[in-house]
Amino acid sequence: MAARRVAILLAIVLGVTACGTEADTQPRPSPITVGEKSFLDEDDVGVIAAASKNRDLPVDEIIAELEANEFCLPADVEDSGDIGTVTAMHFVVEGKLREPCAGTLDDRLIDAWDKLVAIARHEDVADISLLAGYEACEGCATLAFVTSLDEAGTFFLMAIDVTAAQADPDELLLTLVHELSHVITQNPRTELNIEVGPDQCDTFYNGSGCFTRSSYAWRWIEEFWSPDDLARVANDPDLAEGVEDRCTNNAPYTGYYGATNPEEDFAEAFSAYVFSIELPSVMDAKLAFFDRYPEFVKMRKQASKLGLTGLSHSFEGCG
Ligand SMILES: [Zn+2]
Repeated sequence: MAARRVAILLAIVLGVTACGTEADTQPRPSPITVGEKSFLDEDDVGVIAAASKNRDLPVDEIIAELEANEFCLPADVEDSGDIGTVTAMHFVVEGKLREPCAGTLDDRLIDAWDKLVAIARHEDVADISLLAGYEACEGCATLAFVTSLDEAGTFFLMAIDVTAAQADPDELLLTLVHELSHVITQNPRTELNIEVGPDQCDTFYNGSGCFTRSSYAWRWIEEFWSPDDLARVANDPDLAEGVEDRCTNNAPYTGYYGATNPEEDFAEAFSAYVFSIELPSVMDAKLAFFDRYPEFVKMRKQASKLGLTGLSHSFEGCG
């Protein structure tokens, strides 16, 4: 009985740690929003959008422009939830960290980034434009989160709790890949159409945009989420109640957090897949989904090559 209670508590902690705290405060399916959580003023959007379109500009010019517009502000990260204190921030260009644009060099953050880059595809990491490290406030349990920096959803910030990262390297790896999957599945060029609102969306509107028909997320939803469950996620402001109903009787989720919504379901299963974590057979179809995509197989092979299998984890399953 005691063990069971621990399992549930872990589920709750994982739910918070795996993503931004925004999921806790807003009754929406996606932990990532663009408009409401944008770090930019309306006036800035054109500037950063222009920089995005001009990525073939000399790197220094892009960075100078971004810095001039004060996109590297610790207060923006600290104000985005119960996070803590930022230790360092870096602009990331083509997957490479620049010198800190705020704070001072933090080896814990560099180490976490190196771990992600060692596993991930270059093009996915290249969609991250800003990296932040923070020391969590007391009682705060957000291990990492990603959010979009701009209205167009083309620049992502990844933020990592460097203290927790050091304390639990296995959980860090799982969380980094979980968060990376949010970047992958919300790519505005191919995955998520942010110009389509909820009323016009004929796939699934995640709170920021409408998934394209060919997106990973929509294929996942079509295969694994019933129209009823999907409608409930979209309409039910009390996500926790829906989670309880879905995550019962050995239901095919990694646990409560995975049952929150299709994106967390995808992200949790994806991190388990990449690190070859053994899950109950009820998860076989979901893990096999990723095998269809050479890009995901490659990541899994890379993790395996680096010896990153058999990680300790807190996927407690359902029921
Ligand atoms: Zn997540």
